[in-house]
Amino acid sequence: MMETCSLIRMEDKIKTFSKFGDTGKGGITRFSLSPEALAARAEFKKRMEALGAAVVTDDMANMYATIPGAEDLPAIMTGSHLDSVKQGGNYDGVLGVLTAMEAAETIVKDQIYHRHPITVVVWTNEEGARFEPAMMSSGVLCGKFDKAAMLASEAKDIPGYTFGEALEASGYKGNEANRMSPEKNCALVELHIEQGPVLYNEGYDIGVVEGVCGMINYEFTFTGQADHAGTTPMKYRKDALYAAVKTIQYLHDELDKLDSKLVYTTGKISAHPNIHTIIPDEVKFTLDARHQDPEVIKQVLDIIQRIPPEVEKCKASYEEAWARKSVVYTPRLVDFVEKSAQEYGYLYKRMYSGPGHDAQYMIDVIPTTMIFVPSVDGHSHCELEYTPVENCLKGANVLLKTLLYIDRE
Ligand SMILES: [Zn+2]
Repeated sequence: MMETCSLIRMEDKIKTFSKFGDTGKGGITRFSLSPEALAARAEFKKRMEALGAAVVTDDMANMYATIPGAEDLPAIMTGSHLDSVKQGGNYDGVLGVLTAMEAAETIVKDQIYHRHPITVVVWTNEEGARFEPAMMSSGVLCGKFDKAAMLASEAKDIPGYTFGEALEASGYKGNEANRMSPEKNCALVELHIEQGPVLYNEGYDIGVVEGVCGMINYEFTFTGQADHAGTTPMKYRKDALYAAVKTIQYLHDELDKLDSKLVYTTGKISAHPNIHTIIPDEVKFTLDARHQDPEVIKQVLDIIQRIPPEVEKCKASYEEAWARKSVVYTPRLVDFVEKSAQEYGYLYKRMYSGPGHDAQYMIDVIPTTMIFVPSVDGHSHCELEYTPVENCLKGANVLLKTLLYIDRE
């Protein structure tokens, strides 16, 4: 017998949750712990309790809805986040919660035997759209972030209003003893939309996620001399913008010679004084580079380090703004996802995630993996974000099967 989730139920879940924070233009604005997010949480709690789940929250307001298993064993976790960016879509994060709910509902309604309890998790403040940083609560649980510093994080829209205050006011602040732990939980599977165009463009149903790409972010500074644009002959100029442009061109030329899976971006640039009659004396730009293989990231660094201290008579310097190591998900669980996709006859691709997700922190605590479903035209973090319900259902089926494989191991 092939376990299958319900298309009608999946569609109902997506439609219902799309109302919480509806922008009226095809997307949602649902900041963590906002009234809209609390309404989504209440709906989650109501639906999970109707399935017979016990719902508890921890001290970071992460929600855990657990349906009991046949044996007294650690729970298998699955879920994602319900919060969004400003004018975000109806799939980022929430689809991981909805497919987890649908898998749990299928297990309960079809009375599918399982030894382990199944816990559907909702992580608080994944996006960090109102209170920075992103992946705040999973980060606190795995020791990446200091809890006191996180509680003091201020809302971007109301100066002085802290995450701690929002947490108190939410009614979802629970006990630290309720946190997930390696004793209570044996595995985590997070389904997420790809948020990029690869699966959609190449015609795949499922992304079997092997890990998260490592990344580096560097900031470059070029210092020249501000002078009059009309009186300074070209040969006497120290034009910091020209030096920066030459360097950006050099980086593109060299980085394009590396592995084709490398992605890199100069997304931020500033020129001082940014006045049309003055030669720029200081220009800064960033370089964000991502690849799954740390060796390739090292090659990127080599290219950066070959930039001379002086470019076009301007002083050149650079520093690392931040970096993230490559994350490799638990191979055994990755194989379960692949096997599940095979069993349903879905087209799948093994791949690495470019963006970060809560699961990448949880891998430090328990065996973890992820499942991707396609994003139409690769759009995400915008109202155009879309995954057809048929694709969502395929994701839910693979998730369900993966949970059962873990359960039977
Ligand atoms: Zn997300």
